[in-house]
Amino acid sequence: MLIVLLGPPGAGKGTQAERLVKQFHLSYIATGDILRAAIKSGTALGQEARGYMERGQLVPDEIVVGIVRERLSDPDCAGGAILDGFPRTVAQANSLDRVLGDMGKKLDRVIYIEVEEEELVTRLTGRRVCRDCAANYHIKFNPPKVRNVCDQCGGELYQREDDSLSTVQERLQVYREQTAPLIDYYRGQGIIVVIDGNREIDEIYAEISAALETGSA
Ligand code: ADP
Ligand code: AMP
Repeated sequence: MLIVLLGPPGAGKGTQAERLVKQFHLSYIATGDILRAAIKSGTALGQEARGYMERGQLVPDEIVVGIVRERLSDPDCAGGAILDGFPRTVAQANSLDRVLGDMGKKLDRVIYIEVEEEELVTRLTGRRVCRDCAANYHIKFNPPKVRNVCDQCGGELYQREDDSLSTVQERLQVYREQTAPLIDYYRGQGIIVVIDGNREIDEIYAEISAALETGSA
C-alpha cells in the first residue's frame, strides 16, 4: 500500500503517520525529517537545503524528488510506504507518478487532512519535536509525560526554528500557492480521501484507518 498524507503544515500528518505506520506495517518517508537529518549531519544535501527551510520556502523539486526516488527503492519500502510532506508541488506529483510507473507501482490513496488556518498557527507554534526520533508533541494538545522529554525514546524535545510565527506565516502562504493545487490534481485521479482534521487526534486517526481498511475514496 502506498499512501500520501497531504495537508498544510501543522495539519497533523506526522502525528497520524506515527500511528499508521505501526498499524499498517508501512515504511515512513517524511521529506522534512530526511532534510533535517541531512542538516544535522552536515552533508552537502543539508547545506543546500538549509537556507530554503529556514526561510519557510520549498527546497527545489529536483532535490526532493531525488531523495524520494532513492528512498522508495530501499528494500523496506517494498511492502508499502507512507509519504508525508511529499509531493508539495504539481511538478513533484508528476515526477512521483513517473517514478512509481517505472517501478510498476502506483499510489493507492491520498489522505488530505483539512484544518482551519488559525488552528494551524496554534498547533505549529506550540509544536515540540524529539531531537533523536523526530516524534511530535504539542505543549497543550499533546504534551509529553515529562516536560521536554520524548515519551518514546527519552530524547530531548526542541522547538523547530521554522515554527516561529513569522516563518509559519510564510509556510502557510507557500502551501496555499504551491501545494493546495494538489487537492484537485488527486481529485482528478479519484484517489483522494478528505478528512476533517479540526478534531481530536484519536477521532481523526479512527477515520483515516477506517478509510484505508475499506479502501474507499
Ligand atoms: P504536520 O506533520 O502536518 O506538520 P504535526 O503532526 O507535526 O503536523 O502536528 C502539528 C502540531 O499539532 C504538533 O504539535 C501536534 O502535536 C499537534 N497536533 C496534531 N494533531 C492534532 C489535533 N488533531 N489536535 C490538536 N493538535 C494536534
Ligand atoms: P515539514 O517537516 O514537512 O514541515 O518540512 C519542513 C521544510 O522542509 C519545508 O518548509 C521545506 O522547506 C522542506 N521540504 C520538506 N518537504 C519538501 C518537499 N516535498 N518539497 C520541497 N521542500 C520540502
